[in-house]
Amino acid sequence: MSFQNPVFIPGPTNMPESVRKACDMPTLDHRSPAFARLFKPAVAGVRRVLKMQAGEVIILPSTGTGGWEAAITNTLSPGDTVLAARFGMFSHRWIDMCQRHGLEVQILETPWGQGAPLAAIEAALKADKAGKIKAVLATHNETATGVKSDIAGIRRAMDAAGHGAMLFVDGVSSIASMPFDMAGWGVDIAVAGSQKGFMLPAGLAILGVSPKAIAAMETARLPRTFFDFKDMLAAYGRGGYPYTPAVGLIAGLAHAIELLEDEGLEAVYARHHRLAEGVRRAVFAWGMAPFAASADLYSDTVTAVKVPEGCDGTALVQLAASKYGVAFGVGLGEVAGKVFRIGHLGMLTDVMVLSGLAAAEMCMADLGWKVSLGSGVAAAQEYFRGTAGAMALAAE
Ligand SMILES: *Cc1c(COP(=O)(O)O)cnc(C)c1O
Repeated sequence: MSFQNPVFIPGPTNMPESVRKACDMPTLDHRSPAFARLFKPAVAGVRRVLKMQAGEVIILPSTGTGGWEAAITNTLSPGDTVLAARFGMFSHRWIDMCQRHGLEVQILETPWGQGAPLAAIEAALKADKAGKIKAVLATHNETATGVKSDIAGIRRAMDAAGHGAMLFVDGVSSIASMPFDMAGWGVDIAVAGSQKGFMLPAGLAILGVSPKAIAAMETARLPRTFFDFKDMLAAYGRGGYPYTPAVGLIAGLAHAIELLEDEGLEAVYARHHRLAEGVRRAVFAWGMAPFAASADLYSDTVTAVKVPEGCDGTALVQLAASKYGVAFGVGLGEVAGKVFRIGHLGMLTDVMVLSGLAAAEMCMADLGWKVSLGSGVAAAQEYFRGTAGAMALAAE
């Protein structure tokens, strides 16, 4: 595998050189004021990226999956009911985790390719007269299918039902790449990871926690030690951690947020939208389509490309890796083989995206798929040419 080529998987993402350097630092005593000086800007930066008003940021040495576990174990008790829609591998895995923890999961089965079903969520909450549902779980960006869900719409559904459940959002593949508004959407716990929009190595679970979720800790009886928010918040008060923090990653996080804010968060979101749109133009020019059921569901961080009948998406991913040293994502679960995924988030430009599209086309030709070389690349080129000036002006 070439380490020169960018990766086109939806995480871990390509890392800016300066972020890698920011992570590389000498050993530092994490109980010293030097650590607190490094930690505070990272926490403050996360608050801005998540658009938090109240509540706390928790940064755990873990990954997004650990962030899910921290969210549920700190706020819920065995036997509690949560409401979750299942429409892809990641929403499925969060549901599975809840069940393994002894939670009752009221599952809204939703076809893969669709997003969170707002009307069904509202109906389920309205029907819950006894208030058994303690939390609604939502996967903001379903990385397996390239589908974005309407979190503001879920909040509206919850309000319309007059239901007091908490709202937990998996934003692992959306936060820092697509608009996110924790305060505006009334999110109680937002979960992110370091290795996607934040452009860092894997190793941090990054959470925003609302005052309501903090209050829920008082009565939550699911077992927790390593992920206990109470221990974390008590240690934060002393400028530190209850155990050894991932110091280098935290330094890298503060720097990555600086990069994102130098570009401007709105500009970062616009860049992701433009890159995603270029990829989608290429996909349509190939005579294929995104797996997401409709345009309003298209993710700006990952496109799951539906491959033609008789073609195998996994074969393309394997060939791209072995022959050209380029990484794409395979289809997961029930879409294995039926799609391949192009990640377009993190440190990425239009020119980098074109190289990925060109590599995908070479693989299609090698595999005998009926796609002419350059067709998708040309469609993306036209779109990028037509929108480059506007981007450059916006960046000035
Ligand atoms: C990547 C991802 C996860 C899992 O995160 P890890 O950091 O691999 O544990 C969870 N949810 C979504 C939506 C993801 O994209």
